[in-house]
Amino acid sequence: MGETLDALRRLQEVEQQLAELRRGEDKRKRQIRIQKRNLAKSVDLIESKRSDERHHQMEVDRLDLDRKAREEALAKHRAALNAARTNKTYASILTVINSEEVDKAKLEARELEHMSEMEKVRAAIEKIEAEQAAQRERLAEAERLLHEYLDETANRRAALEREREAVAETIPPSALVTFNRVSDRHDGEALAEIVRLHPKRDEHVCRGCNMKVTLEIVNALQTRDDIQFCDACGRLLYLGT
Ligand SMILES: [Zn+2]
Repeated sequence: MGETLDALRRLQEVEQQLAELRRGEDKRKRQIRIQKRNLAKSVDLIESKRSDERHHQMEVDRLDLDRKAREEALAKHRAALNAARTNKTYASILTVINSEEVDKAKLEARELEHMSEMEKVRAAIEKIEAEQAAQRERLAEAERLLHEYLDETANRRAALEREREAVAETIPPSALVTFNRVSDRHDGEALAEIVRLHPKRDEHVCRGCNMKVTLEIVNALQTRDDIQFCDACGRLLYLGT
């Protein structure tokens, strides 16, 4: 096999190992993103629950003031009732008092409703906060796993990057450009082996796409150190050993 093809095969191996390291890193980063998203969701949820809580609290305060004002009014009406001189005055004050009592009872009922809603909202917030604590732990764990992975693979990654550089230096620039272009198109698999289908017959296929490879290409690879492409998939071909 030609030197250039040899170097390209080594380059592909190195790049694939680097790609595997990157996939390992991406996988762990994805976990971090998922945990961050979950956490952000529950932060938003708590925010909206707190706003509900404030709304109910404001209603309770407002109804409370209203109720107190009515109690004061009632006290005055009762004093007036005691001082009433005629039956007619007495009866009309009593009517006012009764209607104020009905209104006051309605206010109290609404106040209670808001208080009970507020209790529910607070319970929900507590539950979300407990989940949030677990989410924070999961996020911290995901971050720890990423750092651990990066630490563990740092040496290997650096060695592979050095090797990639060293190998690339031995490859003619035009071949390197071609390799990178084909590699991008085929997800890091720029090279494909030529497979002989039958030991006694000159039938060859590209392992990348399983399409036929002509004898002309096989002969060229046997005799020259230059690049041959698969007609079907465009990968750079090399002969199997
Ligand atoms: Zn092919």
